[in-house]
Amino acid sequence: MKRIALITSGGDAPGMNACVRSITKYCLNKGIVPVGYFDGYQGMMENRFQELGFTDVDNIIHRGGTVLGTARCEEFRTVDGRKRAIINLKENKIEALICIGGDGTFLGANILSKEMNIPVIGIPGTIDNDISGTDHTIGYDTALNTVIDAVDKIRDTAGSHHRVFFVEVMGRNAGFIALNSAIASGAESVLIPEEHTDILAVANDLKEQNKGRRSSIVIVAEGDDGGGAREIMNKVSPHMKEYTLRYSILGHIQRGGSPSAFDRMLATRMGAFSVEQLLEGKSNCMIGARGDDLVILPIDAAVKIQAVPDLSKLKMLHNLRTMG
Ligand code: ATP
Repeated sequence: MKRIALITSGGDAPGMNACVRSITKYCLNKGIVPVGYFDGYQGMMENRFQELGFTDVDNIIHRGGTVLGTARCEEFRTVDGRKRAIINLKENKIEALICIGGDGTFLGANILSKEMNIPVIGIPGTIDNDISGTDHTIGYDTALNTVIDAVDKIRDTAGSHHRVFFVEVMGRNAGFIALNSAIASGAESVLIPEEHTDILAVANDLKEQNKGRRSSIVIVAEGDDGGGAREIMNKVSPHMKEYTLRYSILGHIQRGGSPSAFDRMLATRMGAFSVEQLLEGKSNCMIGARGDDLVILPIDAAVKIQAVPDLSKLKMLHNLRTMG
């Protein structure tokens, strides 16, 4: 194998650069030319690429975002869009493809692989951790730490003013960030898309837990069925007239920042492993992390199954409530 293409695609995630670095260096050490396409499938369609050398990936392991850029590319969802990409890949003598991104990226890679008959490997890179088949996705640990840091700060001000704070975190379809940040930040309550939100029950529970306390924190996943943090706060408000309620939407700070040690290691290991797997003849697979091990799984399995956080953690949180 002489030329492997790589992209970062979908939402950016801290650690993507560490992965690009690892793939690049591993390829070069094996005599393979790594070809980075810019802005995910968009750059593939527009033939914007660079053959990567060692110096291109110097000093990027610690940087958030992605040096290759990323995009959400609607045209790639069409046969004509993918045809443009295939012509470019063939002209460029690309023999295999590594895609770092979320489940949408994997879907695109899987279709492209079948239409072009080219091996592809997907590496899970998304802050949401919502890919089945892997315990961790690249960027999730960093995002979680960013959320915890923000909630710690909100707790300081909430406690000073006797406030109940609704903090909205990312997670349109999955509650991984919300549930695990709630555990790690000691939040009083958490609302996630996987569980129906009963507004009255939320209000009653907060009143119970708030007795004798200076603050309460409720973590709200943006995709919760009761709404975002602001909406939930407004709905709860008539039932908690005697309390001061506030909300905060953490937004895009959750995507940025230098990757954690965990994400750097995960990304580096997954990058090197993906090239190794291609050289062993694997195709249409994704890399996963199970415990301390890296595993390789059919990409189909990852895109068909919705990843769900461990809901027994909700029960545990319930048993850690502060009773008045
Ligand atoms: P994140 O989890 O961070 O949102 P993602 O990879 O799931 O990342 P998407 O925007 O869903 O992000 O997908 C990335 C890109 O993959 C899309 O912009 C599109 O170009 C391509 N893609 C997604 N779904 C398909 C599909 N069904 N067919 C072809 N291409 C697709």
